[in-house]
Amino acid sequence: MHGLMMDQPLLISSLLRHAERHHGDQQIVSRRVEGDIHRYTFRDMAARSRRLANVLRALDVAPRTVVATLAWNGYRHMELYYAVSGSGSVLHTLNPRLHPDQLAWIVGHAQDQILFFDLSFLPLVEQIAAQLPSVRAFVLMTDRGHMPARSGIANLQCYEELVEAAADRFEWPLFDENTASSLCYTSGTTGDPKGVLYSHRSTLLHTFGVALPDSLGLRAQETVLPVVPMFHVNAWGQPYAACMVGAKIVFPGPQLDGKSLYELFETERVTLSSGVPTVWQGLLAYVEQHGLRFSTMKRTVIGGAACPPGMLRAFVQRHGVAVIHGWGMTETSPFGTAAVLKGSQLVLGEEERFSVQAKQGRCVFGIDMKIIDDSGVELPWDGRSSGHLMVRGPWVIERYFKAPPQQQALVDGWFPTGDVATIDRDGFMQITDRSKDVIKSGGEWIGSIDLENIAMSHPAVAMAACIGVPHPKWDERPLLVVQTRPGAAVGRDELIAFYAGKVAKWWIPDDVVFVAEIPLGATGKMLKTELRKRFSDHRLPDAEGR
Ligand code: ADP
Repeated sequence: MHGLMMDQPLLISSLLRHAERHHGDQQIVSRRVEGDIHRYTFRDMAARSRRLANVLRALDVAPRTVVATLAWNGYRHMELYYAVSGSGSVLHTLNPRLHPDQLAWIVGHAQDQILFFDLSFLPLVEQIAAQLPSVRAFVLMTDRGHMPARSGIANLQCYEELVEAAADRFEWPLFDENTASSLCYTSGTTGDPKGVLYSHRSTLLHTFGVALPDSLGLRAQETVLPVVPMFHVNAWGQPYAACMVGAKIVFPGPQLDGKSLYELFETERVTLSSGVPTVWQGLLAYVEQHGLRFSTMKRTVIGGAACPPGMLRAFVQRHGVAVIHGWGMTETSPFGTAAVLKGSQLVLGEEERFSVQAKQGRCVFGIDMKIIDDSGVELPWDGRSSGHLMVRGPWVIERYFKAPPQQQALVDGWFPTGDVATIDRDGFMQITDRSKDVIKSGGEWIGSIDLENIAMSHPAVAMAACIGVPHPKWDERPLLVVQTRPGAAVGRDELIAFYAGKVAKWWIPDDVVFVAEIPLGATGKMLKTELRKRFSDHRLPDAEGR
């Protein structure tokens, strides 16, 4: 027997309709690429998104056509999120930090037909336009006054002119909720990037998950500033979640340095933000150097890479800002777990709480996880056994974009994340490493994240990466690559001694090298592949006797 309830598809346009009707006066504030601050409401955004949907129609964008964006976090990008997906086309967010050749490859693979881009990416688009045969229209996301007098791009169109000239009336179409809504490629640290094609249904369910109290806990009273980019995994779903709950949203545009972020937090009275650890490092350094305080910020979500425990403590103890450490990946939309305490853990002392919160956390409803050994046997949740992390759920990938149907991304219905993790009795997962970063020493695994966190708790260390380098006896041994804080100094021996008593003796790095800067990838994470290449010939001092 079927239930007798309304059969309404879960569509992205319904979020916009809701925000306009129930939170029409709520604000969206953007620091624009043009340099100024722009301010309008959800009502204005909805009206302009309808005009933009008419623009897409005029540009002959048929349902299922892929439309690309190359843009920072801003209101025009948000309009594209809703206009493109809402009208039944697919929004393909491109990551401008990728190598231009890789970008051209991705655009060709996705067969993007229209490219919308921010003013700051004009030189980049001019450089690669000739390599983008699938793109038949280029739209610069600015007004007439900022359009270049001449450009290497034939028939370059102006976003504001197109939107202003378009009709205001547009009925968001109804269609199957499993229709594709947006597309994001992994950053391709190993091999070619792979496309993850989200659906309206997966996006809506993910949005509910993101907004839940033990996830981001987003509410109409909050002001949220997503530092995580809208060009990578939909800014962790926040442009959708803000509409779902009616939260004020503040977009930082291209200025992600500590000073610019801090000013925006204060002037817009931001209560919640989100970013990768490297961004927060810049912000904390600025705030501490200038003796500043956060007057409204209550919580920050840190994920995308392990949050160093020192950062967690700094936010909580010195600034009174709660940290939600989360884990996810492009293939999981991305939200998977968050380290929010359970009621039974409230009795824990501060130190014990920190050690729980430093983990990647427990599953949000919708996501299930397990850890398995090399032969596929499930491992116990004892907080010690570490194995390959597998996940499943309605917003987890089944197959990569354009992969043949027989080439499922799944193993027995579970997605292998490529991460190595433990899970404790309370269901808190802790990533010890990415499987390709694990250091294999004498047949045992050494997790690099632990070693990096210890190094980063040393006051002179700004950033640390631990990589395996070849060793004649042990196969691999850990080498610590360190970037020191400006003006600070620490020696190799002092850092090695710093590990004493903190990890098993055989985990202690064999050597330390100092670099001016640790290279970061397109999503702000340490590029260990590059470090491994750079130091593959590094001669370790004799590690006998460890
Ligand atoms: P890419 O790094 O290629 O851009 P993703 O953005 O999808 O890909 O990154 C997903 C990966 O990032 C995860 O598989 C995991 O290795 C890492 N990651 C994400 N969040 C965390 C976290 N809180 N702690 C440790 N690693 C994390």
